[in-house]
Amino acid sequence: MTAIEFSKSVKSTLAHRAAYVCANPDCRCLTLSLVGDDAERVSYRGRAVAICGPEGGPRYLAGMSSNQRKAIDNAIFLCSKCAELTSRNKGAHYPAELLREWKEQHKRWVRANLNLRQEEPAPLRLVRAAALRIDGPATASVRIKQRG
Ligand SMILES: [Zn+2]
Repeated sequence: MTAIEFSKSVKSTLAHRAAYVCANPDCRCLTLSLVGDDAERVSYRGRAVAICGPEGGPRYLAGMSSNQRKAIDNAIFLCSKCAELTSRNKGAHYPAELLREWKEQHKRWVRANLNLRQEEPAPLRLVRAAALRIDGPATASVRIKQRG
């Protein structure tokens, strides 16, 4: 049984999609951290873990081709601690269905919790812009345009 090795591009795309946050819902740690006070040094403990594992293991899926096994769809982004945890006993305690559910949950979590300003609805943006103007020193009054 050889572990599934993902390409560099799969690993980096997976990390970007997960926002460098571990996809285990009970963990969700950031896999990047500064080393001491040195702004140049960052430690990275993100791992691409195979959802369906190699032949002979409990997460092996017979109908899967070798290319499908190495594809990003078969990878989940975890921190090194969770990667080790889910791989113990060849992954027997963490079935593929559970890891798929974690990956799906994580996708929703990233959407719902990160980059909120970008997806802010227009009325909220107006209120925020108005609030910024109110806080500004030179503004006496601010009108918020009503919709409809
Ligand atoms: Zn983790």
